[in-house]
Amino acid sequence: MRVIAIDGPAGSGKSTVARRLAERLDLAYLDTGAMYRAVAFAALRRGLDPEELRPVARMVRELDIDLDGTNVRVDGVDATIDIRSPEVTRAVSAVAANPSVRTELICRQRAWVKARGGAVVEGRDIGTVVFPEASFKAYLTARLDVRAGRRHREVGDLAYEAVAADMARRDALDSERVEGPLLCSDDAVRVDTSDRDVEAIVEELLEKLGSGSA
Ligand code: C5P
Repeated sequence: MRVIAIDGPAGSGKSTVARRLAERLDLAYLDTGAMYRAVAFAALRRGLDPEELRPVARMVRELDIDLDGTNVRVDGVDATIDIRSPEVTRAVSAVAANPSVRTELICRQRAWVKARGGAVVEGRDIGTVVFPEASFKAYLTARLDVRAGRRHREVGDLAYEAVAADMARRDALDSERVEGPLLCSDDAVRVDTSDRDVEAIVEELLEKLGSGSA
């Protein structure tokens, strides 16, 4: 089974690069961040405190999350736009630090990929925890100012300073948590996307993929 793992912090260009790679390789594309966002969205909708471990753990086991490309349905309702809201973005790292949530979602991620015979999978712990045997691993990074600038252009109505502060906070939470922290796997190709064009990065990774075992 061919699995391409793309990890890195928020705004590093993972989604764009992973989607293009999936198209070029004719593989399915799985955005695991969207799954954690779906859980945060559902917790807020139910009035749960995202930091509370047990209620969120109970909820996630029953939660129906349907991912199809970039479309996300949560319990049958389209949440594609809502999972990107500032409220969900602020709550997501707390939910993602919940060990029961991670166990459940990792299990679903593996099943999702297996059912499709492989995929390009993006997240924080794909090459280290979810698919340590992936055929190919890339870790994308970029300077904080560049990453915050990208996110600022995407969300539009928030001040750049607020976006940068939120992002730095989320990076710290994602890197410092005990379970599945953001880490670069030893065998990952590391790419700094700060001053580079997406197409050039995709071509570089395709070249490395072609010359590797994938
Ligand atoms: O990729 P995105 O920024 O949408 O991810 C949202 C959040 O989901 C991250 O900040 C992180 O807390 C969590 N996440 C994770 N593990 C993954 C993917 C995302 O903990 N594999």
